[in-house]
Parts: sequence; structure tokens; C-alpha cells
Amino acid sequence: KKNLIVFGTRPEAIKMAPLVKQFENYTDEFETKVCITAQHREMLDQVLSFFEIKPDYDLNLMKPNQNLYGLTADIILNLKEVLEEFEPDYVYVHGDTTTTMATSIAAFYSGSRVCHVEAGLRTFNKKSPFPEEMNRCVTGVVSDIHFAPTETSKENLLKENKPSDSVVVTGNTVIDALKISVAKVSSSTYEDEEINRLSQILNANKKLILVTGHRRENHGEGFLNICEALKEVSQKYSDVQIVYPVHLNPKVQEPVYKILGDLPNIELIAPLSYPSFVWLMNQSYLIITDSGGVQEEAPSLGKPVLVMRDTTERPEAVDAGTVILVGTDKNLIVSKASKLLEDEDAYEKMTKLHNPYGDGKASERIVQFINNHSL
Ligand code: UDP
Repeated sequence: KKNLIVFGTRPEAIKMAPLVKQFENYTDEFETKVCITAQHREMLDQVLSFFEIKPDYDLNLMKPNQNLYGLTADIILNLKEVLEEFEPDYVYVHGDTTTTMATSIAAFYSGSRVCHVEAGLRTFNKKSPFPEEMNRCVTGVVSDIHFAPTETSKENLLKENKPSDSVVVTGNTVIDALKISVAKVSSSTYEDEEINRLSQILNANKKLILVTGHRRENHGEGFLNICEALKEVSQKYSDVQIVYPVHLNPKVQEPVYKILGDLPNIELIAPLSYPSFVWLMNQSYLIITDSGGVQEEAPSLGKPVLVMRDTTERPEAVDAGTVILVGTDKNLIVSKASKLLEDEDAYEKMTKLHNPYGDGKASERIVQFINNHSL
């Protein structure tokens, strides 16, 4: 059987890498090719090189001032060539990006089976000005097989009348990626200049708070509040060091550098490569983020997370208690961070919770399912 695995952004690459690696163990059963749309370029290439993945097709579609119309059209048109040349039986897409949605439609046109990895996440807000929820829902409609990370995501799909034998709960492949990466960066032979530089800026006597933020829903007032909250935390606790790899979007860079640029215990640094970021998560005491992937990863490293969002398509983490939703409310961010810095029992409790997103075997389950699946 022939597989085509398609992705375009950094988080998709991180979450699809374990599946690509897993299929490398099954070359007798499958011919597997990787196609990148390169909706993001540099951050994607770093992930590919860390996981030693060489794409068979590179559509190289990133353009300055790209818009959703042009990107969607480019992906569909360019994939037509790839699909007609390779004629895959199965096309794998991940998550909720424009690459995910447009690829699933192209794969449907070609008659391939569409397999959606990380299927069934929902915010139930399709009217949001941001396309993720619509991308997930469209991909769900087009897909033949839905690899749901959790029971909750499976339930969402069943409520949309997806046939129950087309939905498989696998756990999230992000945990597979994390386990591979932690093992690699912790090995004595692993050399990484970025990690060396990071270890020089870390103060071993202070508690490390790691911060990331990029979501468009937080641009504007949201980021101003977040920065004010971080400033207050840094001034309230002299035994805390905040390290913040700042997303390259000017709408994030501007408020962050303006408000936090010159504070003694805040380090603003460039976005990190995935292995360095994993290493830094492992060093941290607490993580404050609006990232989806980070909230899934952190509990496997025993790190509490404050999530700077009002809604979430990841309710499992909130239910399990591994994350706390704080939105972009300055007082709430400060009070929840203070609680975890001061109340050791509350902190310890959060570090010991079970990760609802899986055990690191999601890609193994996906490959097993496809191996037993008849076309
Ligand atoms: N990440 C990274 N470098 C950074 C920040 C995050 O490699 O400086 C990783 C992180 O470990 C996670 C993924 O990127 O696996 C999350 O990506 P992002 O926050 O951009 O997207 P989201 O998960 O919200 O879709």
C-alpha cells in the first residue's frame, strides 16, 4: 500500500514526524512518501533536520503576505501533480491548518483515503474570525479515517455521525515526538550550541517560568495584559527567572519588547528550535503559554501550565487539572502564577497528574490500524 504524509507548519511537522519514523519500520508493507507544503519554511526545516526526515516532495509555497485564498488554491493545484504522480492509497493530514484542509480536499478529489491525525478537536465556534475550527470540521467531513487523540475527541466525531468504525483513539503523536526528543537531547553524545547558550543564561538558583505566545486571538489588548502580568510576577518574585522565546510576528514582538525589554529577571530570546525548546521545558518550574502543543507536552514532563486563552479545544487538560485556563486577564495570570510559586502542595499535586494526551504510542497504533485496514 502507498502512503503520502503531508504537512506544512512546525507543529504539524513535530506531530507527524513520529508517524514518518514509524512507517520506516514497515517498508515491506508500505511505500511511504512525505510531502511538505512549507506553509512555514524555516521552523519546519529545523524540525525535519532534527528528526532526519527528507521530504520526497517540497511544494515550497511560503510567500510574503500570503493570504488564505492564494495559499488554499496553491496547495490544491500543486498537490494535484503529486497525487497524480504517486497515486497514494492513503493520504495523512494533521490537525487544523490551511495545509490540512486544502490537502484533504485534494486527496478526496484524487480518490485516495483521507486519514486525519489529531481528529475531533472542537471549539464549537465556526464563526470565529480564525480558520482553525472550520479547517478541522471540513477535514473531518472529507476524511475516511479519523485518528482521535482522546475519547473526548472521538465523542465529538460520533456526535457528527462519523461511522464508529472510522474513528480510532490513538493518543496524541505529540507525546511520541516528545519522548523521542527528550531521549535524544538527554543523551551524552548530543551536542547543541543553542542548548549550550541557553544553559549559560539560566540561573540555577531561580525558578524558571517559560513563556510562549503567538495566537492571533491574543494580538492587541491580550498581549498587553499578558506582558503587564509577566512584569508584575517578575517584580514580585526575585527568585524567579522568566525566559520568553518571542514569536517573530511583529504584533507579538512589539508589545513584548516594549513592556518587558529591560527587566532584570526576564530574558527575551528568539524562538527556539524544537530540541532546545524541549530541553528548556524540562528545566522549567512552570509554563505560561497559549500554544496547543505545549499544553499537551508539558504534563508528560510534569510541568504545570497556565493557558492564556478563554476557550479551548483541549478540555481534557483542564478536566485532568494539568492546565489552568487564565485567559489574558492580568490579575488571574498573576494570582494563579503566585499560587503555584508559593503553595508547594498545590504545585506538587499538579506535577504528578496523568497526561490525558497519551503514552507515546500513538503512531504505533495508527500504523497497526492501517496495516490491518483493507482498501
Ligand atoms: N516550540 C518550539 N520552539 C518554540 C516554541 C514552541 O519548537 O520556541 C514547539 C513546542 O514544543 C510545540 C510546538 O512548537 O511542540 C507548538 O507550536 P505552536 O505553539 O507554534 O503551535 P500550536 O501548538 O499552538 O498549534
